Order: sequence, then C-alpha cells, then structure tokens
Amino acid sequence: MTNKALIREVEKAIACPVLYDESMKQHTSMGVGGKADVFFSPTGADELARIVMFLKDRDIPFVAVGNGTNVIVKDGGYRGAILSLKGLRKMGLEKRDAERHAVFAEAGVGLAALVQYCAEEMLTGLEFAAGIPGSVGGAVKMNAGAYGWEMKDVIEKVCLLNDAGGMRDVERAALKFEYRKLHLNTDEIIVGASFLLERGNRESIRAEISRILALRKDKHPLDYRSAGSIFKNPAKTPAGRLIEEAGLKGVRSGDAQVSEKHGNFIINLGQAKAADVLDLMAVVKKKVFEKKGIVLEEEVVILGED
Ligand SMILES: Cc1cc2nc3c(=O)[nH]c(=O)nc-3n(C[C@H](O)[C@H](O)[C@H](O)COP(=O)(O)OP(=O)(O)OC[C@H]3O[C@@H](n4cnc5c(N)ncnc54)[C@H](O)[C@@H]3O)c2cc1C
Repeated sequence: MTNKALIREVEKAIACPVLYDESMKQHTSMGVGGKADVFFSPTGADELARIVMFLKDRDIPFVAVGNGTNVIVKDGGYRGAILSLKGLRKMGLEKRDAERHAVFAEAGVGLAALVQYCAEEMLTGLEFAAGIPGSVGGAVKMNAGAYGWEMKDVIEKVCLLNDAGGMRDVERAALKFEYRKLHLNTDEIIVGASFLLERGNRESIRAEISRILALRKDKHPLDYRSAGSIFKNPAKTPAGRLIEEAGLKGVRSGDAQVSEKHGNFIINLGQAKAADVLDLMAVVKKKVFEKKGIVLEEEVVILGED
C-alpha cells in the first residue's frame, strides 16, 4: 500500500483535517518546493501523539514543521507525512519566585505572539526573538538566536514527544544545544517549552522590541520571501560578509537571488523553484571557498527529494 492509502486509515481516528499532495510552497516562507504526500495539522498534543504512533507503526516517514521559515522542501516533494504544529497554541504563565516567572508555550505558538505576551506580562529575556518569524517548536529545535542571545539562554525545560507516543519534560541542563541546533533523538518532536524570564518594566521591554524590529527592517530584505540566513556564521566572519566580499550579492539562479541588501539571504523574486535556490547555494559555497578558503555550512533545513 502507498503512504496515502495507509494514511486514509488514520482519518477515522483523528479529528483534524488531512491534506493529500499538499504543496509545501504555501507552508514555507521561501515559497518553493514540491508536495508532501500527506499533511497533518493536529490541534492538540494528544492528537499529535496518536498520529505519530500511527505513522511509526506503519513505517511511514514523518517530520514536524512549525512556520516553515527555516525549511526548503525540494521540488520532488516529501514522501511521507509532514506534521504542521501550528495548531498547538496554548500559552500561559507559571510563577517561580518573586523575581522570575516561566512562560509555557506550545510548539505552534508564533514567536511574535510569545514576545508580545512576555511584554504584556512584564517579563524580560525574550526580546531578542522579536522579528524572528518562527514558531516555538522550530525556534527551540534550531536554537534560534539574534543579537547575542539564543533560545538556550532562556529555556527552562522542553516537553518532548517520542515516536511511541510518550511525553516527557526535559530540564535545560539535560538538553544538548549548539549553534542553531538542539540535539534530539530521531523522530522526537517538541510539543512545548517553558522559558524562565525575569521581571522587567513593560515600557523598557517594548522599547527594546521596537529597537530590534527597526534594526532587522534596516538590515534584512523583508519585502521578499526567504528562509532567513541560508548559511551558519563561521567562527570569525559572518557568512553575509564573506558572501559580499566574494562578489556574490545580486547573483541569480532563475528567480532565486542573493539579496543585494544582505549577502546571507537568498530571496525568491517570484517564481523560484527549490532547484534554483539549491543551485545558487552551491554556487555561493563554491565561490566563497575559492575566494576565502572557508566552507560554509547550511543553516536552512532541506527536506524531500529532487
Ligand atoms: C526573514 C527571516 C528572518 C529570520 N531571522 C532569524 C534570526 O534572526 N535568527 C534565527 O535563528 N533564525 C532566523 N530565521 C530562521 C527561522 O525563522 C528560525 O530558525 C525559526 O526559529 C524557525 O522556526 P519555524 O517554526 O519556522 O521552523 P521550521 O522552519 O518549520 O522548522 C525548522 C526545523 O525545525 C524542525 N522543527 C520545527 N518544529 C519542530 C518541533 N515542534 N519539534 C521538532 N522539530 C521541529 C523542522 O523539522 C526543521 O528541521 C529567519 C527566517 C526568516 C524568513
């Protein structure tokens, strides 16, 4: 039986819509790529667990995504199930002591909503995440960061779902973070996370958020679709500077272009295909190595097949 035929069985056990041959263009900020065999949008953690157990039992590959702002799906699409966690949206406050509170947010909560919520609750620590367009799950998995801060600096614990349907909380000390990565076991999914934050002043928090949003608007090509930084920053020099110094700003492959505004952004001028983006990434890597002797490493996550 094909993945799709097998998955029709699970529809009987779950309430959320199941989409077949779903184009991933509309679920990724880059706006490129092929179709997923099946696309699930569970509305809660229990439903997600049921879907995962079903898929695991039948050996159907699956992957969780949030807002799709750090993902490129290849033009041949994804053979298996993509689980969109955008429907997991619970968020709340957990008091810790006089000076600190934790905010719990499910994986699908957008960072923008989380940052605003913290400002409303007069909690400081997550302002750096203002303007990062991801979800909590994606941001924790990618250890997203900006302006000297990363998710690992404010995480208290993460709730993980394993492929047997079990959920467990893992404290910060037991989590292995590195630059733009949280190590997880195969097929483990982030269901939510708690962030430990300090009491602050609402106006100062709001001012910091505005300052960061203005900086980002000034530096990033936000008028175009992109996946943010395409490459990780090497230890000594930011990838954007290396790409600019290699003379690559403005270089195109089809409708994919190295942004004139920021060298580490590849933008979609309109009709780019995933192959255009990947070809351009290969050109950038080759040229930067030739001119600078540095091997750039992809930050963006590439899924699917050619
Ligand atoms: C304009 C723009 C600006 C950006 N600026 C920044 C920045 O300043 N700093 C930065 O770090 N990033 C930045 N990014 C990249 C991106 O927004 C972040 O990495 C973000 O945290 C990804 O979240 P997401 O929900 O979109 O994840 P997705 O793109 O959906 O997924 C990213 C990865 O995480 C995995 N994943 C997603 N959700 C889960 C889950 N619940 N459990 C397990 N795995 C999961 C996916 O399988 C994939 O491997 C930017 C992107 C854009 C488009």
